[in-house]
Amino acid sequence: MASGPGKLTEYHVGRCRLELVQGDITDQVVDAIVNAANSRLAGGGGVDGAIHRRGGPSIMAETKAKYPDGCPTGSAVITGAGNLSAKYVIHAVGPIWQGGNAGEAELLASAYRRALELAVGHSCQSVAFPALSTGAYRYPLSEAAQIALRTTIEFLRQRQSPPLVRFVLFDQATLNVFAEELAKLARAS
Ligand code: ADP
Repeated sequence: MASGPGKLTEYHVGRCRLELVQGDITDQVVDAIVNAANSRLAGGGGVDGAIHRRGGPSIMAETKAKYPDGCPTGSAVITGAGNLSAKYVIHAVGPIWQGGNAGEAELLASAYRRALELAVGHSCQSVAFPALSTGAYRYPLSEAAQIALRTTIEFLRQRQSPPLVRFVLFDQATLNVFAEELAKLARAS
């Protein structure tokens, strides 16, 4: 469990809740699941592979039909969710880590913001995010967690929606890092 001093797994912004859990994003019962997509929207490993495997071919068919040019890094697009229990998959494209001087922080924040905007625009009550860019794209975990959480908290303060944002971290170590960063942000606010 990520608990004890220095770690936090739940945070409230007005009536909205931000929560951190360990798990598989494709198991989440939420209105929208966020995919860690690539800019060609071509499918891949990690979260993307899991979503297309569990969701079935309709997600890729819709993606190719609606977004044949892909999606720029730092942005996101939305499709249905096929066989997943969610209503939507939001395909967000985080940056590939290149050392930190290629605008990665702003691009990562922008991918989260755009995904949250799409969720709100489609009246989603709940949205589940993976830790964008921290797998194949190699973004350092603490920095990525801080950006993910800070951007989400700022968005919730401004928009008071969606009511639930859940970060689904694949393993305990990743959950611990997110829980430490959330505690830091809570102390600072
Ligand atoms: P990116 O290419 O944006 O780095 P990845 O899918 O490679 O995306 O990894 C993003 C994060 O998601 C990593 O921390 C990885 O461990 C985690 N991850 C991989 N599969 C799943 C899954 N099924 N559910 C939740 N998180 C996952």
